[in-house]
Amino acid sequence: MPELPEVETMVRGLRGVLPGRRLRRLEVRDPSLLQGCTATSLMRRMRGGTVADVGRRGKWVVIELEGDVGLIVIQPRMTGGFWLIEPDRPEHIRLSFHLEKPDATIWYCDARRLGKVSWYQDAAVAETAFGRSHGPDALRIDRDDLAGRLARTSRGIKPTLMDQKVLAGIGNIYADETLHRAGLHPERPSSSLSADEITRLHRAIGEVLARAIELEGSSFDAGYRTVLGLEGGFLAQNSVYGREHQPCPSCARPIRKTRIAGLIGRPTYYCPTCQVIPPSTSRSR
Ligand SMILES: [Zn+2]
Repeated sequence: MPELPEVETMVRGLRGVLPGRRLRRLEVRDPSLLQGCTATSLMRRMRGGTVADVGRRGKWVVIELEGDVGLIVIQPRMTGGFWLIEPDRPEHIRLSFHLEKPDATIWYCDARRLGKVSWYQDAAVAETAFGRSHGPDALRIDRDDLAGRLARTSRGIKPTLMDQKVLAGIGNIYADETLHRAGLHPERPSSSLSADEITRLHRAIGEVLARAIELEGSSFDAGYRTVLGLEGGFLAQNSVYGREHQPCPSCARPIRKTRIAGLIGRPTYYCPTCQVIPPSTSRSR
């Protein structure tokens, strides 16, 4: 958390206000989040710059400045988020973007300070840095690319979907939802999926993420909020995540909560009726 839909919701919120706006200054309140740049150099580069665009790569928020000024990349990681309104917990403010004409401020808050802020000279350099640790964006990967990546590993399909080097953007919630929609058991070896199953999985990834973006992501406890401080609506309408013992929306049998190999500390929710391991691909060899 946040995963692709939450970061995309942040980006859409920022895109409504930032492009075309001039930055009076950037205030770095917590330099410990900076990676590969200092507060002084970052503030100097951003001062007086005009925002060209706000975009997303996986779970990265990319704010590009006009001209050859460069771009700032913010990874919200576990607890980061942007606020267009006064944050409810000002002690968690790590960056403040002070805009001019008219004066306004956008805040980046991060309770656990696990987020990262970096600076890149241009989009190509940022793209290369992203490519070193990430596969294609989960919303942009094509079906055959996904098939090739799954064929290379016998790991369970759920940890594979969550591996950012395979495809970028999916975490625990959307992996469970996608696998339920595709009717695949989370522990199926990735390389055991048939061509039809891969097609189904590819479609499910796109549909689940699109629906989650439409509902502005998933919020629980004090975590992710939209840029207006609102909760995302996905977990009010989802199928399996967080729904142990509740009826499966497809077959009405109870959802099961379990732990699977390769995912320490994170629960897995699935329907034992709709998501079975076919005997021919079971792990009993
Ligand atoms: Zn079911």
